[in-house]
Amino acid sequence: TIDHEQPKKAGIVDRLMGRADNSPRRTLDDEMLEQLEELLIASDMGVDTALRVTANIAEGRMGRKVSVNEIKTLLAEEVTRIMEPVARPLPLYTKKPQVVLVVGVNGSGKTTTIGKLASQFRAAGKKVVIAAGDTFRAAAVEQLQVWGDRAGVPVMTAPEGSDPASLAFDAMTKAQEDGADLLMIDTAGRLQNRQDLMEELAKIVRVIRKKDPDAPHNTLLVLDATTGQNALVQTEAFQKLADVSGLVMTKLDGTAKGGVLVALADKFALPIHAIGVGEQIDDLAPFDPEDFAKALVG
Ligand code: GDP
Repeated sequence: TIDHEQPKKAGIVDRLMGRADNSPRRTLDDEMLEQLEELLIASDMGVDTALRVTANIAEGRMGRKVSVNEIKTLLAEEVTRIMEPVARPLPLYTKKPQVVLVVGVNGSGKTTTIGKLASQFRAAGKKVVIAAGDTFRAAAVEQLQVWGDRAGVPVMTAPEGSDPASLAFDAMTKAQEDGADLLMIDTAGRLQNRQDLMEELAKIVRVIRKKDPDAPHNTLLVLDATTGQNALVQTEAFQKLADVSGLVMTKLDGTAKGGVLVALADKFALPIHAIGVGEQIDDLAPFDPEDFAKALVG
């Protein structure tokens, strides 16, 4: 039986095999496979993915005794294989300015991620401008200014309640005049007012395209790992509101292992550009499929 007493934090395989012994072996039978499926589904990786991964592991091994390490290795390999194609840093173009629209629900870590990215690009010698496009949340604008200061990057703001599209247009003008390499535009995350948000995002896009018909060059969706399956719902919703081109998953430094990324990779195949691993400016890491897989299967 599944070791439900193991803390939730324990990895999938530890819960499957128990930890009573350092090297327990279990016969790979239908019961074990069913439990494995259940644990994989509970890790948020999605039913279809869980069934496929389990089937791959079962193939040619039914009735055999398997060890903890063997199962860990096999599972990690399966997950790595799914994740490798989507592990891609944010592509940098020679286009000036490269316009990156940043979307996601409030609290997902948009502001923090913009600050971290700005700092990284600046360290790489890029000239960056940030536009605080969530003009309805004064706190969000202030917070973005704090991050801009930390990163040493100018933040364009507008009075509370003013039109985000007009700010985006001004920021685009400034970025072009300054010869900036990168313009990152923060946006509102009020998914509960979907129609408003859709119109707002569409207007921003329409307006910046007056300055550059190819903009935005990237639309980054920021997702919070601690929301589990909600990340799927949010991705679906934002794909309808904007032309999402890639993901950043934040808060992978906590107990959340981000199993939903596997479901996302399977369903949307969107590149994962980076992961948030803390609240500090340097806490943004490239997405490493193998490290991710090992942490997930535990
Ligand atoms: P926004 O509303 O989408 O702009 O979200 P914020 O950037 O303000 O982030 C919301 C909260 O999540 C803040 O308290 C951040 O410090 C925190 N946060 C953001 N990214 C991470 C991360 O990668 N790890 C952790 N532990 N906290 C994060």
